Amino acid sequence: MIQMISSAAIRNIMQSHGISCRKSLGQNFLIDNNIIGKIIASGELTGSDLVVEIGPGLGALTTEIARQAGKVIAVEVDRGLMTVLSEVLTGQQNVELILGDALKIDFDRLAGESTAGEYGSTGKKYKLMANLPYYITTPVLMRLLLGRFNISIIVIMIQVEVAERLAAAPGSKTYGALSLAVQYFAKPEILFRVPRTVFYPKPGVDSAVVRLAVRPAPAVVVRDENMLFNIIRAAFGKRRKTLLNSLTGSALGLDRETCLRGLEIAGIDPGRRAETLSLAEFASLTDSIIEVSS
Ligand code: SAM
Repeated sequence: MIQMISSAAIRNIMQSHGISCRKSLGQNFLIDNNIIGKIIASGELTGSDLVVEIGPGLGALTTEIARQAGKVIAVEVDRGLMTVLSEVLTGQQNVELILGDALKIDFDRLAGESTAGEYGSTGKKYKLMANLPYYITTPVLMRLLLGRFNISIIVIMIQVEVAERLAAAPGSKTYGALSLAVQYFAKPEILFRVPRTVFYPKPGVDSAVVRLAVRPAPAVVVRDENMLFNIIRAAFGKRRKTLLNSLTGSALGLDRETCLRGLEIAGIDPGRRAETLSLAEFASLTDSIIEVSS
């Protein structure tokens, strides 16, 4: 097995395979064993776990996940990394390498096919781990949650500012539509920060590792989930305005009277701003707006 835990080693192995780091694919590889160990520990892996990893890169996390989990399915979009990855993972019988795009793959189907139905939509829950490429953090995360895949926990390393937005509570500057959408499906927890110096090449931002415990059912009950997300987006569309003004002037196409009545039924002061509302309040506002409009 090749140990590639230094920038020089990564440069060497890439040179010898005639490949280079692709910035457009968010390729910043981990070069710190201590951080790798901490990320793996955050997955609380056991020998019966199936882990799907997005973006194995040069296999730094994959190798360690494979040591502790029952099986790893590693999904990498860069065809150019396949040969080197296979070499790095030589001897790891419990790793399946898939050339694929995390923005397109049906993860439940993949898990089911790879385990003869033991995991996946009709089977057991699996875990998802990734040092996610920055350029697709939000779309991948929303896809994992909106897709309602049979995932128990997601452990991801992402840009620290995005991590703060995921875990933000009402009233904080970073609280917004992303916090609410993610918290509707999961309980996010920032575990630790990771400096940019532990990657090669070094990115322009620091990172954080976040664990999301996926909820068995959404955090609140609402009559129309799409309407809830539309209302949240509209409310935060003009963050500095009052709720009444941002909802009225939004793409929702609601008139002032409907918004006022909906806010009144939900017991929410129309002069409040979006960032002060909890998820439960947004759900109740959605239900009352539906009631008033029908
Ligand atoms: N896991 C490795 C590590 O920690 O050193 C590499 C992490 S690097 C930040 C992100 C990886 O995701 C790269 O290997 C990149 O090629 C891959 N990637 C980028 N876009 C992807 C996509 N849409 N689907 C799957 N993998 C992707």
